[in-house]
Amino acid sequence: MEIAFILLLGALAAVGFMLFRERQTRRELEATHVRELAAQRERRDVELRSQAGRTAALFDRMVEGIVVLGSDGRIRLSNRAAAAFFGFKPPAEGQTVLEATRHHEVAAIVGRLAREPEVLNHELRLDGAGGARFLQVNALALRSVEGANDGAILVFHDLTRLRQLEALRQEFVANVSHELRTPLSLIKSAAETLIDGGRDDPAITARFLEIIDKHANRLTHLIDDLLLLARIDSGRVELNLSAVDLRAAADDALDDAALIARAREVSLVNEVPPSLRAEADPERLRQVLANLIDNAIKYGRPGGTVTLRGRDAGGGMVEISVRDDGPGIPPEALSRVFERFYRVDKARSREQGGTGLGLAIVKNVVQAHGGDVRVESAAGRGTEFFLTLPAARRARAV
Ligand code: ADP
Repeated sequence: MEIAFILLLGALAAVGFMLFRERQTRRELEATHVRELAAQRERRDVELRSQAGRTAALFDRMVEGIVVLGSDGRIRLSNRAAAAFFGFKPPAEGQTVLEATRHHEVAAIVGRLAREPEVLNHELRLDGAGGARFLQVNALALRSVEGANDGAILVFHDLTRLRQLEALRQEFVANVSHELRTPLSLIKSAAETLIDGGRDDPAITARFLEIIDKHANRLTHLIDDLLLLARIDSGRVELNLSAVDLRAAADDALDDAALIARAREVSLVNEVPPSLRAEADPERLRQVLANLIDNAIKYGRPGGTVTLRGRDAGGGMVEISVRDDGPGIPPEALSRVFERFYRVDKARSREQGGTGLGLAIVKNVVQAHGGDVRVESAAGRGTEFFLTLPAARRARAV
């Protein structure tokens, strides 16, 4: 009997222990579950926060300016680009478009959205301290499912660079037309003089044929230069690179210029050190040096000296320069001489048969090699044009 009682007690204790263990295990499981849920929620929150952060960063980093209006016509959301375009301090939330942009045309666009579903490709001009800025505006009215006014979204796209390029292109076309027309009209009037009886006089015939020949050459020169620039612009100039000995290249370019130098009694000096070598297209380099030497003779001092120098410029680059002892370039013109058609003295350049494109070609060709150009000049103390080019890699030992 006692044994049976002990066994019963033992069984009860075992059951109790088992129940206790089970409850404890369940509690542990529940706690783990709760912890897992909390961790999941935390992960989701972090993810949502970082997603929202990413969206906000993306919105703020967009190049287009964006302004979102609520149904009350006040700003709900605006990004950094919009603030920069109009010069307002973000956040502009709660302000009207007129308050934030201080631009009546933008407010008028918002007004139009009450009657029209969208206003597209509206061009806006902003006049600020940094010059005129052009924006394209696209605006869309937002409507609820029932068709009620639910605000609007305005997108501003900066067209300034495009407009500047268009203005440059127009100026270029105007310049080209002018440059073509001048020699053409001289050729035409010379031909007319001959037709109108001038050919009966051998002296007049000789003089006018000379005019025709000179200006036809000028036209050919201009068209060659224009075609070369167009090819460089579109990346169609192939460079046949090789290791070019700069002293020898300078000698060749100076030989080419010997005749015009003699006519002006200009001495040509080659001070480029031997064994200075550039990775360059020999033909293009010859053309570039010819242009600079030609200018140095044309715009330098009659009876003066043109000197070519060179040095290792460090950083894997070599430098070659063309110096004259002429009147120099005025400081205000120095930053413009590499522009197309820019001339310090138009009449002088034309009289010398210049196209105003020589230095633009020099700059573009040198940059196509991975180098650059610069000029130093002082009034009365001459001018020096410097070109840097990649140094030729050392020849492998044979
Ligand atoms: P151009 O066909 O007129 O010579 P370039 O592009 O070669 O055109 O040169 C632009 C202008 O820069 C020239 O018209 C001239 O006024 C000026 N220039 C160029 N080289 C020199 C120089 N060595 N000394 C003084 N002026 C120069």
